[in-house]
Amino acid sequence: MDHFNYRAGLLHAEDVAIPEIAGTVGTPFYVYSAATLRRHFQVFDDALAGMDHLVCYAVKANSNLAVLKLLGDMGAGMDVVSAGEYLRAKAAGVPGERIVFSGVGKTREEMRIALEGGIRQVNLESEPEMLALQEVASSLGVTVPVTIRVNPDVDAKTHEKIATGKSENKFGIPIARARGAYGETAAQPNLRVVGVDVHIGSQLTDLAPYRAAYTKVAELTEQLRADGHEISRLDLGGGLGIPYEASNTAPPLPADYGAVVRETVGQLGCEIEIEPGRLIAGNAGLMVARTIYVKQGEGRKFLILDAAMNDLVRPAMYEAHHDIVPVIAPEPGLEQEHYDIVGPVCESGDTFAKARSLAPVGPEDLIAFRSAGAYGAVMASEYNSRPLIPEVLVDGDQFAVVRARPSYAEMLARDAVPDWL
Ligand SMILES: *Cc1c(COP(=O)(O)O)cnc(C)c1O
Repeated sequence: MDHFNYRAGLLHAEDVAIPEIAGTVGTPFYVYSAATLRRHFQVFDDALAGMDHLVCYAVKANSNLAVLKLLGDMGAGMDVVSAGEYLRAKAAGVPGERIVFSGVGKTREEMRIALEGGIRQVNLESEPEMLALQEVASSLGVTVPVTIRVNPDVDAKTHEKIATGKSENKFGIPIARARGAYGETAAQPNLRVVGVDVHIGSQLTDLAPYRAAYTKVAELTEQLRADGHEISRLDLGGGLGIPYEASNTAPPLPADYGAVVRETVGQLGCEIEIEPGRLIAGNAGLMVARTIYVKQGEGRKFLILDAAMNDLVRPAMYEAHHDIVPVIAPEPGLEQEHYDIVGPVCESGDTFAKARSLAPVGPEDLIAFRSAGAYGAVMASEYNSRPLIPEVLVDGDQFAVVRARPSYAEMLARDAVPDWL
């Protein structure tokens, strides 16, 4: 459910017509809907109603400061995986007590930044990292609430590049070794064990892997309590999938996910943290591009866009599907054409879709990629020296550029040529 709909034949973001934004900022660009972001956060918050809980938005999905402020103002916590994300959450006004620090390789410098600024908890992913955190905490004279991320060895049945809960993945401590790791952690003078953390992957379209993982977490929690640890928080990660294809069956709803949480860990009396990213931001964003050329190839037509894999890498990186729609609704009854939809980057991988069925598209036409609000702008690069594309936030009938497109001069000015050359 989002707020990108056709009105009088024109695609709108809430009450703003997409061509109006295109006329102001040029193409390509990302546009986010505030109402959709708010709605998705609320749906998660409601899904855990009645349980003590905090929804910690996974900042890496879309880390624009305006998006973080909007969610933070609704009471969201934040899940960060780097000092940069931590500082973004703070800059958006989110207090340290609502920020959780995840990630498989936090450096001592990153730990120091988070401890100095205040942090709700650090999710540890290995014994050496635990020892490093003890050192940093001790040098600052603070005590840090920690959980240990356990790897439950569960198949999340998602794309291999975003599965994180199998024993072959780099994430977490194998659950079989967890009790030992908790013992060592609890013995550190500056670390305070508060809970258990798990995150099994992203774009999950089935609740069964969650049920399996959370059941293992519940068992572990009982064992850890029997070992004398005070386990008062469970961080259950993120990963709930979104419908990228309107024609496909929809993934489970947050409410059904909430029911699994209740069923598996509800009896433990823990405060529940969840870390959704994609489900909050994904369908809250479009990427809008313009056709540069329509080129006739051998037995196929290419739509060559002004957007490319550097702007939206998901199709090239994860073989991801994005629904692609015209901004001006075509007249009904037009015969569909098949297009290979590509960008101008010098890689064959710069292909958004093959043989995609669309009403005829001409040069200069605007088209929109749906479900581009998560893992879109944040993964963009300036490959082929294409400046990062701007981001726009719409709220009702108003819109604002929330990250401007750099000029060519600004892009070049980031390099420096040494004076000895
Ligand atoms: C990526 C990530 C998330 C968010 O995953 P989504 O699929 O965007 O919901 C949550 N927690 C951790 C630790 C992550 O690495």
